[in-house]
Amino acid sequence: MGEGKRNYQQCLGVPFLLYSSGDGKLFPCGAFFTEKNWDKYLMGDLTKDSFKDIIKSDRYWEVVERVRKMGVSKCYTACRTDQINSFLWKLKHPPEHVNFVTLLSGFRHIKYNIQKWEKLKTISIR
Ligand code: SF4
Repeated sequence: MGEGKRNYQQCLGVPFLLYSSGDGKLFPCGAFFTEKNWDKYLMGDLTKDSFKDIIKSDRYWEVVERVRKMGVSKCYTACRTDQINSFLWKLKHPPEHVNFVTLLSGFRHIKYNIQKWEKLKTISIR
């Protein structure tokens, strides 16, 4: 991974955006697709388990936590999860003077994604 400038120190957005390889393997990030990372970052295999079972599994949450603890100093610039991380970090570490309009717009975006996710988790991909 290359270096990127970010306004957050942890990847908190994994539960909001997953990455799937062409053969159905689910990862928290596109940077982990290579086989050498499977032990640590493979969340599940859609050819073997349903999406619902994967995101409810202990393994899924272990990987979410591993990525959160890893930090982002070596992450590549502007990954797809960047805006989600930026918003969640501000939510967790609010600045002294919060820009209310930006925060409200971020809340709406996250709420929309949660609604989409709620619908999605009822669908079995098997
Ligand atoms: S590049 Fe870093 S911040 Fe982006 S999804 Fe991957 S681990 Fe998270």
